Amino acid sequence: MVFSLDRKNIYAVTIAVCTVVIIIISSLYLPAFFRERGDFYTSFEYSQMYLNDDRYSELLIEYNYIMGYPPSSTARESLISTIYELCEKDEVKDIVGEGIPFRLGRTKYSSEHIELLFEEYSSYERRGTLMVLNVLYLDGEWEQKSNVLGLSFGGEYIVVFKETMYVLTQNSQNLEVEDVETSVLIHEFGHILGLVGIGYESEHEDEDYEHHCDESAGRCVMSASVQIRIGAYTEPPPSEFCQLCSDDIERIRSMEDDWGPEEYLTLMVIGGQGVIGVVWVAVCLSKNGKEDYELYQQYYDDSEKKVY
Ligand SMILES: [Zn+2]
Ligand SMILES: [Zn+2]
Repeated sequence: MVFSLDRKNIYAVTIAVCTVVIIIISSLYLPAFFRERGDFYTSFEYSQMYLNDDRYSELLIEYNYIMGYPPSSTARESLISTIYELCEKDEVKDIVGEGIPFRLGRTKYSSEHIELLFEEYSSYERRGTLMVLNVLYLDGEWEQKSNVLGLSFGGEYIVVFKETMYVLTQNSQNLEVEDVETSVLIHEFGHILGLVGIGYESEHEDEDYEHHCDESAGRCVMSASVQIRIGAYTEPPPSEFCQLCSDDIERIRSMEDDWGPEEYLTLMVIGGQGVIGVVWVAVCLSKNGKEDYELYQQYYDDSEKKVY
C-alpha cells in the first residue's frame, strides 16, 4: 500500500504516532502509578511485600493503643521472630506510639471508626525500601461482632481487642492475656500473608469458617477460634503455623504477579488495535472531506447548468 503524504495524511500519521507513544507510556507507567497511589493491590501482592525482598528489605511494625491496653513485649517479640522466620527482611523493627486517650463510655468500635483511628494516629507509611505494618490495640469490642479478638484488613492493618482478651482470660485457671494476645497477633499476620485461601485455592480451608485452617495436620494458629475452659486448665492457643499453612506460605511467596509480561502484552495488543482504529477513522475523515469538496463542486457545476 502506498501513501502519498499530503497535509491531511501527515495529520493522521502524527495523531497515530502520538497515540502509540501515549499508549506505550501509559501502559508501562500508569498502572503501577495508580496502583501505588490507590493501594490497588491483590492480597497476594501485599503478602509478597512482606514475604519477598524485591521491593521492601526492611519492615517497621507501628503499634498504637488506647491507654491502658498497650501491646505486651512478649507478643511483640513473638511477631518479630515469626516475621524473621518467614519473611525475607534484612531488618524488622517495631515502634509503640504514646497511647490514644481513653474515652469514657466508648465500648464499641465500628469499622469506619477504626479506619479513622488508623488515619489519625499512624505516623509511618511504606516508602523506599521500608514496608510498614500498622497495629492498633483497642479497649471495648467490635461493633459488628462482640466476640472478635482481632481483625486484619487492607494488607497493612491489624486490630487487636485487648480488653476482650482480659475478659476472656479472667475465668481461666492458667491462661495469661499474653498467651492469647500472641496467638491473635500472629493469626492476624497470617491473614495479612493470605492465609487461608485468600486469593488462592487452599485444600485445608475450614468449611465452616472461611479463610481459616481446618487443622487437619494438627493444631494451628490459623484455626478460627480460641476456646477457653472456664475455671479449668486450658492449653494456650497455638502461635505457630501448621505444615499445611507453611506450605501455603511458600506457594504465595512464588505466586505470579497479575501484571506480568502477559498482561502488559495484552494491553499493548488492545492499544495497537485502538491505534489502527484511530488511523482508519483519520484516513476516512480526510478522504471524505475531499469527496465532499468534489461533490460540492459537481453540484455547483450541475446547478449552473440548470439555470434558466
Ligand atoms: Zn481469623
Ligand atoms: Zn494451618
